Amino acid sequence: MHPLLARLAGLVDLAGLGAWARACGLAEVRCAACGRPCDGHPATPSGAPESPSHAPALCPACALALAPRRGGICPRCGAPHALPTLPDAPCVHCLASPPPWAAFRMHGLYEGALRHLVLRVKFSEDHAAARLLGGLLATACADLPRPDGVVPVPLHPERLRRRGCNQCLELARLPAAALGAPLRPGWLTRVTPTRPQTGLSRQERRRNLRGAFTAHPDVRGRRILLVDDICTTGTTLARAVDCLLRAGAVAVDCAVAARTPAHPGRQG
Ligand SMILES: [Zn+2]
Ligand SMILES: [Zn+2]
Repeated sequence: MHPLLARLAGLVDLAGLGAWARACGLAEVRCAACGRPCDGHPATPSGAPESPSHAPALCPACALALAPRRGGICPRCGAPHALPTLPDAPCVHCLASPPPWAAFRMHGLYEGALRHLVLRVKFSEDHAAARLLGGLLATACADLPRPDGVVPVPLHPERLRRRGCNQCLELARLPAAALGAPLRPGWLTRVTPTRPQTGLSRQERRRNLRGAFTAHPDVRGRRILLVDDICTTGTTLARAVDCLLRAGAVAVDCAVAARTPAHPGRQG
C-alpha cells in the first residue's frame, strides 16, 4: 500500500471508521490472530462459509489452527478422549461424580494457537485477542438456552487491582451479546484471595477454593451462564456453580474458552 494511503487508513481507523475504510479498500485487513494481512473476509475456524457477524477476519492458517475441537470429548466436562474421531461420551470421572453444572461448552483444547491466544487475553490486556476469543466462545454457546445473566468467573479484588481487568469479563461480552443476555459480573464475587491453582493437586485445589465465592441474592430463580477462560480440573467452575446454586439459581451452564488436554484425574 502507498505510504500516504496507509497513513490515511490509519487516521480513518483512529476516527473509528475502520469498517468504512476497509469497504472502500483504503485499509489493509489483518488476521485477528497473527496480524498478517489477509483477504478481509471473516473466516470461522470451522471453515464454514457463513460467518457469524461477530467473527473477525482470520487468515486460512489461523482459521485452521484455531478450529474448534469437535468430537471425541466428554460432553459433561470437555475432557478429551484419546482420538477426536471417537464418539462423545461421558468420562469416568463424570460418570462417578457428575459435575454440578447443566450444560458445558468449550471452544477447544488448551494447546497450540488457542493456548497462545488465551495467554494473550490473560496477561496482555489484548482487546483484539479478547474479541477474537469471545467470538469463538459465542459460537460455541450458540445452542444454549438464553440465560438470565452471563457471569464471568471473578478475580479477587486484590488480584483485579494488580492485573487491571478480569479477562473472563472481556471474554463474556460477545457470548452475552450473541445470546441477548445481560452481563452480570456482580452476581458472583471472590471473597477470599486464593493462591493460583497452577501446580496444585485436585484435593489442594478444592481446599484452596473452599468458601472462595459468594453469590448476589439476585441470582435466585435465574438461569446463569458462567464464563471462564481456562478449565483445568473443573474445580473452580464446580465451586462457583455450587455457590450460585446454593444461592437459589435454577441452573448454571458453563462456557470455557479452552480445556487443558490432560484429564483432571491425571492432573497434578
Ligand atoms: Zn493469521
Ligand atoms: Zn467428564
